[in-house]
Amino acid sequence: MIQLYQPLNFMGMVYREIKQAVIDIEMMFSILQRDAEIKDKPNAPALQAGKGAVRFENVVFSYEPARPILKGVSFDVPAGHTVAIVGPSGAGKSTISRLLFRFYDVSSGRILIDNQDIRDVTQVSLRSAIGMVPQDTVLFNDTLRYNIRYGRWDATDAEVEEAARLAQIDAFIRLSPKGYETEVGERGLKLSGGEKQRVAIARTILKAPPILVLDEATSALDSHTEKEIQDALDRVSRGRTTLVIAHRLSTIVHADEIIVLESGRIAERGTHHQLLARNGLYASMWNRQREAQEAREKLAQAGEDD
Ligand code: ATP
Repeated sequence: MIQLYQPLNFMGMVYREIKQAVIDIEMMFSILQRDAEIKDKPNAPALQAGKGAVRFENVVFSYEPARPILKGVSFDVPAGHTVAIVGPSGAGKSTISRLLFRFYDVSSGRILIDNQDIRDVTQVSLRSAIGMVPQDTVLFNDTLRYNIRYGRWDATDAEVEEAARLAQIDAFIRLSPKGYETEVGERGLKLSGGEKQRVAIARTILKAPPILVLDEATSALDSHTEKEIQDALDRVSRGRTTLVIAHRLSTIVHADEIIVLESGRIAERGTHHQLLARNGLYASMWNRQREAQEAREKLAQAGEDD
């Protein structure tokens, strides 16, 4: 009985923790995904974040010892540049963003930000240097203003509204029943995936971190929403070191480098045009997505013609 009770009790505890933490994905991650063993070194200094150059050096990682997920991954995101990680489902793309946040430590190799090993600095300073626009943003049960201000608590109302404008969510907010004071979340206004993502972008604009991690939603958004979000993301990533975990290749055509991950290894890397010319995995993913897009457009067109 006690054997049954313990896991149930633990699950109950986790459930309560999750419920209490219906907040931001960063917090969700810290409860669900973070390795309890990750601790700051005694007297660890704060990260001296400059322009936020990111380096993965021969990173090997597994969640469970028997199943390696990353098998020696090396790449640089030079300060201010954009690197996109693409590849089949389960290749290890999101794992790369979790390791950069140090929700887990690498098994071997290292991750550097501005030449500092992320294991040597405090987690608080590390996370304050990175802005995350996650796949699915979880909102506070509070007002829209509060949810955006979460990016930086001392932001003025004018700054919150400017961030919302840049994130292309200001017009939507002004049309909501009580504008910025509209309650959202469980008991309030329900936002669509695209609207929530724009709230996350507004938060990140307020936070203004040197490094951005964009974890693109797997689910397709309608093309108008997608374009608005893409414009907002392009604006927020300009001049920042940006790592994009991409599912739709159309969004990363202009990345400085595209890394194609396959079963935890880098299979190909280069610019969009270099990778198309190579005619390998990236080119076949690109062709498949383009065909699917064309089929969707034909269907939509047929629907309009009816
Ligand atoms: P997708 O495109 O589907 O989001 P991905 O390339 O981002 O996939 P990851 O989320 O990095 O893939 O996962 C890589 C592998 O690690 C998957 O096989 C997944 O099942 C496994 N994995 C992810 N999180 C954990 C975890 N917490 N414990 C054990 N295995 C995990």
